[in-house]
Amino acid sequence: MAEKTLTKKELERLGKELLHKRVHGMRALSAKEEEACEGYCHEYKAFLSKAKTEREAAREIASILGHSNIAFWQYREKAICAYRPGKKRAQDGIRLICTHIDAPRLDLKMNPLYEDLDMAFLKTHYYGGIKKFHWLTRPLALHGVVLLKDGQRVDITIGEQVDDPVFTINDLLPHLASKVQGEKKIRDAIPAEKLNVLFGGNPIKGPEDTKEAVKLNCLKILKREYGIVERDLISAELEIVPQGPPRDVGLDRAFVGGYGQDDRACAFAALKALTDARTPEQPIMALFLDKEEIGSDGNTGAKSRLIELALYEILRQEGAELAPDTILRLFNSSKAISGDVTAGIDPDYMEVHEKHNDAHIGYGVNLTKYTGARGKYSANDAHAEMVNWVTRVWDRKKVVWQAGELGRVDEGGGGTVAKYIASLGIDTVDAGPPLLSMHSPFEIAHKIDLYMTYKAYRAFFEG
Ligand code: MN
Ligand code: MN
Repeated sequence: MAEKTLTKKELERLGKELLHKRVHGMRALSAKEEEACEGYCHEYKAFLSKAKTEREAAREIASILGHSNIAFWQYREKAICAYRPGKKRAQDGIRLICTHIDAPRLDLKMNPLYEDLDMAFLKTHYYGGIKKFHWLTRPLALHGVVLLKDGQRVDITIGEQVDDPVFTINDLLPHLASKVQGEKKIRDAIPAEKLNVLFGGNPIKGPEDTKEAVKLNCLKILKREYGIVERDLISAELEIVPQGPPRDVGLDRAFVGGYGQDDRACAFAALKALTDARTPEQPIMALFLDKEEIGSDGNTGAKSRLIELALYEILRQEGAELAPDTILRLFNSSKAISGDVTAGIDPDYMEVHEKHNDAHIGYGVNLTKYTGARGKYSANDAHAEMVNWVTRVWDRKKVVWQAGELGRVDEGGGGTVAKYIASLGIDTVDAGPPLLSMHSPFEIAHKIDLYMTYKAYRAFFEG
């Protein structure tokens, strides 16, 4: 029997019933929510400008948690676990959001300071995945801590105040670059050992044959201002980061541009969701982790067992019987979001994107069922049940969301903390905003996507 030809109205109805369409966040937002989105991004930018290192992010998060009387555990000033009880007991399962607060950067080497041709420089070792040319010829700031010979600790931030000096890494003028850089592959054109930070240029006043007079002068200033001598730089964590605060981007101010949005966009969203959520059914927890960008190793990364430390204390306070399998049962009845950013489709690089399945900028928080590379290698790959549960919660709470993966298959790939959280036994799925220029000194996020990430996390906690 021949199919009936449909009228325009019938087709419309059928389309609505059968098709799944992404919606631009701006089209879904009420005027009141638009205002809430702007207010949220305002607070977010203030957080970003104060949180340029993992220690600074931990300090800001601890300060916000302290003001709201939420229980939290801090680990070596670089990772935090925050917890709010629910109506049910923790031993029957919790809702967890894990994010990371480290970001790609240039660390100073242990013996960083040297002099050449009457200029002082700092040697660096890059941390995480960077494109080295991003870091040349731009104002840079120095953030971190130094432990002095006598055990005292000095915190340093140079370059963020208007009258502070800044630092920079020089690049070759185009006039002389055609062979040494121009004929090379882009990844080889700037060797890591040339990422040396210009630190000073005045020789110390004294006899003309003074050796390393510029270096000595820099050390004299370091001693005068911070009490630091060269040996102290060995027991230091000094990070070179892009100078300056985040900014609105675009004539319509649609975007936030700034350093470290991977993954502080998700860390801030998780923090706000945790503090704002109405008393949840199940206990809720936000975990802010370090070292994701270098593989989640170390005792402040996702592979460490610091979540268990906090949970044992919570279980003890609850009066739970601590059998060997108590914590395993807790994990197995818990749900987690691994809060991390993903790649937004850049129209200039369609060759690495798959437009049906990559995240669109402005279309809300992105759910990533699996990350990894090649044949889903190293991916958590969330269960359909978990994806279904989360997206139903989001639909109920009117979250604008989309589902996508990071780039074309076999083009590259990436990972998050999801697989480490899942390995504990927790049902885990990735969700966060898409970024443009990810891992660059000036990452771009759409304000709607940032706000929808917050809404999604809050809905997950409350749902
Ligand atoms: Mn990340
Ligand atoms: Mn990253």
